[in-house]
Amino acid sequence: MKIILLGPPGSGKGTVSENLVKDFSAAHISPGEILREEVSKETTLGIEIKKYIEKGNLVPNQFIVEIIKLEIIGKKDFILDGFPRSLDQAEAIKDIPLDVVLYLDVPEKVVIERFSGRRTCSNNHGYHIKYLPPKKEGLCDIDGLPLSKRKDDKPDIIKERFRVYHKNTAPLVEYYKKKGLLISVDASPAPEKVYAEVKKALKKISKK
Ligand code: AMP
Repeated sequence: MKIILLGPPGSGKGTVSENLVKDFSAAHISPGEILREEVSKETTLGIEIKKYIEKGNLVPNQFIVEIIKLEIIGKKDFILDGFPRSLDQAEAIKDIPLDVVLYLDVPEKVVIERFSGRRTCSNNHGYHIKYLPPKKEGLCDIDGLPLSKRKDDKPDIIKERFRVYHKNTAPLVEYYKKKGLLISVDASPAPEKVYAEVKKALKKISKK
């Protein structure tokens, strides 16, 4: 299946993606991960885009659209986690057929609480100290790597990421609704409940 995951920062797109990848062996395409890797490797692109990510702003289209298109083209099953994030980006992939756009709907208040406990390892496996704790404190269950906070998970940067989300990304909800592709999932409950809803929604589509 070709799936787009849409939702505000901290709505659980990464966790839903991890589960979908396990269950459906689809390719997980996350621009955030791709960009963070460029930054950590200090590539030419990484040096150029670091300032945008650290401030919570969108990286300009010229640095991301072609990379994502190349990742998508030719893939039968993929989960796009964090792209598109603007109408321009959605238009850039409008010729690529999609099965569904899953909108993880969650109020900002819930998300702010989630951010304070969010931890990831350097391979991007995500945890939450309260809602999704690792088996051993501070260490990833999958690869044993130490867990840390993401640099852009600080309160003032989170605020900016929300501002950017409302201005640029939220209009995509209407955009994909009009195309008949949008399915909303209540993303406030615990991760396993959210994922159960996601699976239900996907079952309905595959029966169509
Ligand atoms: P994420 O891991 O999806 O929360 O993304 C982290 C950061 O990467 C964002 O705050 C942006 O700075 C950048 N980023 C991720 N996806 C995109 C995108 N589709 N367009 C522009 N910038 C992006």
